[in-house]
Amino acid sequence: MLHYSCDLCKRMIDPHTDVRHVVKIEVFAAIEDQECCGEADVLAADADHLDEVEELLDRIEEDECDDLDDARSMRFDLCEQCRRRFVRNPLGVSSGKKLDFSQN
Ligand SMILES: [Zn+2]
Repeated sequence: MLHYSCDLCKRMIDPHTDVRHVVKIEVFAAIEDQECCGEADVLAADADHLDEVEELLDRIEEDECDDLDDARSMRFDLCEQCRRRFVRNPLGVSSGKKLDFSQN
């Protein structure tokens, strides 16, 4: 039988007594017109640095387009407590505690 544990607090999640919550996060580059993989007309205008630009484009094609293909998709199991915490603050930003109390 499969046992799950919470990815945040590492607590075991007992399927009989606890609800296991699955969080799926996808991270991908938001590129509107595929400039990364195609010819960048803007850059071509800068003919002096064409070689550099081509080099750069090659590198971008190798690196970033690969990244695009395997957009990060992550999956976490959370217990009930951590789910609540996560939903309130998905990115772990410490907001809310720094309320701006003005002295007025
Ligand atoms: Zn937890």
